[in-house]
Amino acid sequence: MTQLFHIKTFGCQMNKHDSDSISKILLDKGYKQTARIDDAHIILINTCTVREKAEEKALTLIGRLAPLKRKKPDMITGIIGCVAQEKGVNLLKRFPYLDLVIGPRNIYHMDEFLSKIKEVREKISSLDLACEFTTSFSKYNGYLKGRATSFLRIMEGCDNFCAYCIVPYVRGRETSLPAKEIIDEAKYLISQGVKEITLIGQNVNSYNAKNKPTFPGLLKELDNIVGLKRLRFTTSHPKDLSDELIGSFGELKTLCPHIHLPVQSGSDNILKLMNRGYTRDKYIGLIEYLRKTRPDLTITSDIIVGFPGEMKKDFEDSLRLIEEIEFDNLFSFKYSERPGTKALQLPGKIGKKEKQRRLSILQERQRGITLSKNRLLEGTIQEILVEGPGKRGDDQLTGRTLGNKVVNFSARTNLKGQLLRVKILKGLQNSLLGELIDR
Ligand code: SAM
Ligand code: SF4
Repeated sequence: MTQLFHIKTFGCQMNKHDSDSISKILLDKGYKQTARIDDAHIILINTCTVREKAEEKALTLIGRLAPLKRKKPDMITGIIGCVAQEKGVNLLKRFPYLDLVIGPRNIYHMDEFLSKIKEVREKISSLDLACEFTTSFSKYNGYLKGRATSFLRIMEGCDNFCAYCIVPYVRGRETSLPAKEIIDEAKYLISQGVKEITLIGQNVNSYNAKNKPTFPGLLKELDNIVGLKRLRFTTSHPKDLSDELIGSFGELKTLCPHIHLPVQSGSDNILKLMNRGYTRDKYIGLIEYLRKTRPDLTITSDIIVGFPGEMKKDFEDSLRLIEEIEFDNLFSFKYSERPGTKALQLPGKIGKKEKQRRLSILQERQRGITLSKNRLLEGTIQEILVEGPGKRGDDQLTGRTLGNKVVNFSARTNLKGQLLRVKILKGLQNSLLGELIDR
């Protein structure tokens, strides 16, 4: 009987990419994927631990597997990703019906783990942070057929140890993939119909810090691949944003005019406590240089409120920064204590209510900025890559501009994967409304 697997994914694009990698491995071995958890013989939960809330969500879902496992004792249940790495084998004690606990660097052996469980019915944990990883899945033909966009992982792990962040502890030290492997994978993706590739890593712009090609060199090589229409990357660290990389936005034909550049705080005191390695002025200088090089650049960022020691003045510095820079969009978070991180030892903890108050003020200000930025695009003509049906279904399709803004528009035919021009009719809070002008 064909074995059906179901993967539930929490967290960032790295986790989504990991789930895709597991799916490719299992499909290649003859397993089939199912969207219905009740039908699955194997359930894998891919988890995120970057904030406490994300971790709680994953643990709640694991708790819900108990009745399913009682009904189907032969079912295999596994927890993978960052919570698995953080909590390790303790999860097997806390949830005795779990069969697998697999860290993010160990997922590439998923088929072997499943075969072993079936053979000996033993629980398996694999949590080695030093083991090799790969991005090359070219042999798993077909998986990406019909997709217009794809992630391509170029590095893993992080060496920055920002004081609030658990990532270096659960994803290990920074490791870059050989450029040849990345180029081959990009060519394979294009052969499958992919037109837009987003290079991903915790800190993409420190790719190959000690070798060649460096990150701007890699972008140049990818830009020369025939058939690639759009190239993006995320996430970049301001301290590693070189002049050469900024220059790429003015030079490379496929590099899209969007950068996600997390600032985290507008206060020098807090940036120092966070161990970010740049000042407010340095960050503002980078934004000015980026905008000079590429005036139509979309700039998005991440920010944390309520970090330990954040005084009223520090928070106001963050508010002033977002008003001065006018990000196109901002992902804002309440500081969340994470085990093992340096910030746990810092004095000046901010209460829950105050963190929420600061977040609401900041988000309200940013909503106004985002909306006015989107409205500025009304009446302009934008190239979009059509990704598929819009949320409204029916005749609505959705795509993204070069600046990574979502555009919904009406169309009667399936235009997925096509690069088309639309006129922007309305700028909304989270998207743009457009009208097709090419057909
Ligand atoms: N590597 C990226 C960088 O340097 O910005 C981001 C990785 S992290 C998965 C994504 C975002 O989560 C961060 O930019 C930060 O704003 C937020 N974050 C990380 N740890 C956090 C914490 N303990 N509390 C609140 N937000 C956090
Ligand atoms: Fe976390 Fe900082 Fe590394 Fe980003 S750069 S993953 S925020 S430690």
